Amino acid sequence: MTDTNTTARYRRILVKLSGEALLGSEDYGIDPKILKRIAGEIRDLTQMGVQVAVVLGGGNIFRGAGLARAGMDRVTGDHMGMLATVINALAMQDALESLGVYARVMSALRINEVCEDYIRRRAVRHLEKGRVVIFGAGTGNPFFTTDTAASLRAIEINAEILLKATKVNGIYDSDPLLNPDAKRYTHLTFDKVLNDRLNVMEVFNLFNAGDLLRIVQGEDVGTVVSAGP
Ligand code: UDP
Repeated sequence: MTDTNTTARYRRILVKLSGEALLGSEDYGIDPKILKRIAGEIRDLTQMGVQVAVVLGGGNIFRGAGLARAGMDRVTGDHMGMLATVINALAMQDALESLGVYARVMSALRINEVCEDYIRRRAVRHLEKGRVVIFGAGTGNPFFTTDTAASLRAIEINAEILLKATKVNGIYDSDPLLNPDAKRYTHLTFDKVLNDRLNVMEVFNLFNAGDLLRIVQGEDVGTVVSAGP
């Protein structure tokens, strides 16, 4: 560990980015400007000495449920959705590398010509060496989502916190886009803790540049969901 992480509250984090987060001003696919900005924020975290893992969604390209509604076999649709997450992961890897950050895509589905397989111990080793690990293909199973994959991977790699990027800066008592008086919770507790090892998650707005860094520095941004007060 170097001195540079003295301002960071966490040593190892997992950031969940939905596919939609990469859309930016595009209707479909990836907005390179958004990708570059997010990659820059991740670089800033690694420069503070924080180990960063990323789970990417695929909703900007395909979602299995949507494809099934249009008549496709659900499992095939989910396979397409998982491959969409790998496409996003490759784009993020490229954006990070162009900023001089070492990154590795690890896929839950085997696509060896394209990226590494997900192997837990290898993922942890990459993190220890300061490489950003981008988990692709969700859990590798149909009928799941990348939110589940993010929780699973965060627990597996012993991340201290799961940071879930959304379009609003936290959890509110009502929809803040519809109700201007909606109140943001700074902290919520789980009714039931599903797993006793990963006991904290923070919801924040990815569209506020710099919020990711501010959370890791301990500022009151978004909503923390944890097992206790
Ligand atoms: N998916 C899946 N298993 C997983 C994770 C994802 O089958 O473990 C598929 C599913 O079809 C999903 C799509 O991949 O709709 C994209 O993931 P998600 O909808 O979670 O992406 P996001 O909403 O975060 O962009």
